[in-house]
Amino acid sequence: MSPERPMLVAGNWKMNTSLDEALVLAAGVGNLTVSGIETAICPPFPWLVPVARAGREHGWQIVVGAQDCSAHGNGAYTGETSAAMLQPWCGMALAGHSERRRYHHESDALIGEKVRSIAGAGMIPVLCIGETQEERDADQTETVLERQLGGAFRAAQGADLNKLVVAYEPVWAIGTGQAATVQDAAAATAFIRGWLRQHATSLVGTTRILYGGSVTPDNAAGLFAQPDVDGALVGGASLKAADFNRIREAAAALATREIS
Ligand code: PEP
Repeated sequence: MSPERPMLVAGNWKMNTSLDEALVLAAGVGNLTVSGIETAICPPFPWLVPVARAGREHGWQIVVGAQDCSAHGNGAYTGETSAAMLQPWCGMALAGHSERRRYHHESDALIGEKVRSIAGAGMIPVLCIGETQEERDADQTETVLERQLGGAFRAAQGADLNKLVVAYEPVWAIGTGQAATVQDAAAATAFIRGWLRQHATSLVGTTRILYGGSVTPDNAAGLFAQPDVDGALVGGASLKAADFNRIREAAAALATREIS
């Protein structure tokens, strides 16, 4: 593992869990310390504060993250939550998850502005990108990744992105049980690293690139063994502490890998 890029395993709970379930799930993750990697959980918004408070009380070594963040600082944006409101409780926030792109029509520019807000508040921005099935079938994967990266970076210009995480999440793999092959995940993450090398040179060594899409305890180790995969964004399997912890342990087992 590169000291600059500790493996990161992040759980995206989406719109799941009651408060009691959230606290039990968070405890199931927080009560197991897995050394050598970073762990994050992204509960639904109303549970961020109680989960963060429980984490502080019990000394859990986990980052609490938000599933989204407003691009705006404050004002008349009904229903939105700003980075400054999240920052006391969260160390991370997602931007541009494919479900936000799909159901809320978020553009690359808006997502880049969210990245800027998250980074500006000192949190880890997780920029989610990935192609749909149609785009993959049309051999457009790299074009789509390039467009999503370029659009977001342009809008985030000037922000300090030294904590940036990019999550490669092919839309066809999310929640389908059909993860990318290790070869496909390796190729896409290498493409992203190459794009960073060319367009954001100072960030190429520090930016963690996660794979997301039907990661399970059974396929995690193979994905983590790919040189440009620095961890995972996990949806369904993060809702069971035992499964999520096995994924964390698979990352820890590879924590000493060599990275160029
Ligand atoms: C996700 O929603 O970010 C995700 C990767 O989901 P799943 O692991 O369920 O495919």
